Amino acid sequence: MRVAVVGSGPAGFYAAGALLSADPPAEVDMLERLPTPWGLVRLGVAPDHPKLKSVSRAFERIAEQPGFRFLGNVEVGRDLHHADLVRLYDAVIYAVGAQTDRRLGIPGEDLPGSWAATELVAWYNGHPDFQQLDFDLSVERAVVIGNGNVALDVARMLALTHEELAPTDATDASIAAIADSSLREIVVVGRRGPAQASFTTPELQEMGELAGADVVVDPVDLEGAQPKSTNAERNFAVLQGFAAREPQGRPRRVVFRFFQSPIAILGKERVEGIELVRNELDANERAVPTEERETLACGLVFRSVGYHGVELPGVVFDAKTGTIPNEGGRVEPGVYSAGWIKRGPTGVIGTNKKDATETVVLLLEDAVAGRLQPKPDASAAAVDALLAERGVRVVEYSGWTAIDEAERAAGEKTGRPRIKLCSWDELLAAAERIASGKTS
Ligand code: NAP
Repeated sequence: MRVAVVGSGPAGFYAAGALLSADPPAEVDMLERLPTPWGLVRLGVAPDHPKLKSVSRAFERIAEQPGFRFLGNVEVGRDLHHADLVRLYDAVIYAVGAQTDRRLGIPGEDLPGSWAATELVAWYNGHPDFQQLDFDLSVERAVVIGNGNVALDVARMLALTHEELAPTDATDASIAAIADSSLREIVVVGRRGPAQASFTTPELQEMGELAGADVVVDPVDLEGAQPKSTNAERNFAVLQGFAAREPQGRPRRVVFRFFQSPIAILGKERVEGIELVRNELDANERAVPTEERETLACGLVFRSVGYHGVELPGVVFDAKTGTIPNEGGRVEPGVYSAGWIKRGPTGVIGTNKKDATETVVLLLEDAVAGRLQPKPDASAAAVDALLAERGVRVVEYSGWTAIDEAERAAGEKTGRPRIKLCSWDELLAAAERIASGKTS
């Protein structure tokens, strides 16, 4: 059986792993838009969290198994279409993640200086489509909207010192821009209370361990809170610790504010401030606005209120949830989904293992029950021929390992895990130089 897995993030790799260890094993072609694999493990996980990135070693072991092919720089919807995949493979698994941000839907959201947090994340992580973004960090206050782990990543990255950033694989441009910025205060705004925040505790705890920033919590925001889960209880204890601290006069401050929603981003030519409304919680712990409003001057806003999936041409899509409608990962016999495009943008990297395995179990059930259409055209040669006919510069796994080696070698000289190649030209050139046997 030949299966196309579209997307090479954690969900795609865990799905590939389950398919390759099936009895009999399936053959997997992993199609990826970028020349590089690993999805958010490479381009989402914060550069100062190298341990989280080490899961890529498990993905490398999957990629080295017989029957696996990585076909990078192949975009489904441009180079190959859903109809091609249905014809050329016995089954297709979409594991394309959630590629855009959820919107706030308030005035001023598109003013220069108002960014999706995910744009900053892609920029400092070296995503080749985001290097031209020009974040003006010559402001004193940035406001981060949202109480999830992405909000913490963004707030923390903006607060790191040069010494903290230097040993990471953040791009050189982002390290210089952040370390030299005139930011003094980063305000993290949650629409509900400290007991409702979706931070995970170790990530919250880290905010109190920054070399160059004090963490500030108003004890009034903690009064009467009723944490209802173990995670919420632990978060609450950490926040109590923060509230009890005296600021140490560090150059930057990270301030947590709760029970406030943005109602407008203000400014003529660019962001100059944000209007916030005070909320109360109803019986269902939903945020209900009061009459109390406040304007906070700021030069940057990062909207970190969740990701949202993007529709693939020819594939069913639920625009409200941003997912491909499915049951347990089965869209219909022969077409499946895994990861964020299946369940929505929640959970940590490991969540995708169970999620992808569930999908593959259904796929294999369909195969055994004879529910998959016979595919006389399903062969690696037919896929390669079609890609060649369409002039696609495919980056195979050997091309990726060439990129990987070049990046690691560049990092080694300065004690960093890697220095990423972050333009399409550099990435494709590195992949092709080795593929053609030339060394640099
Ligand atoms: P998230 O955890 O779903 O958090 C989204 C936040 O946005 C919530 O606090 C939510 O508040 C808030 N929000 C939503 N709509 C809003 C609005 N209109 N106005 C104000 N606030 C609004 O999402 P995320 O931070 O994007 O993270 C995505 C997933 O990746 C999560 O599962 C996260 O744990 C994971 N992740 C993990 C790590 C890590 O392990 N280190 C790092 C990054 C991301 P409500 O609760 O009120 O809806």
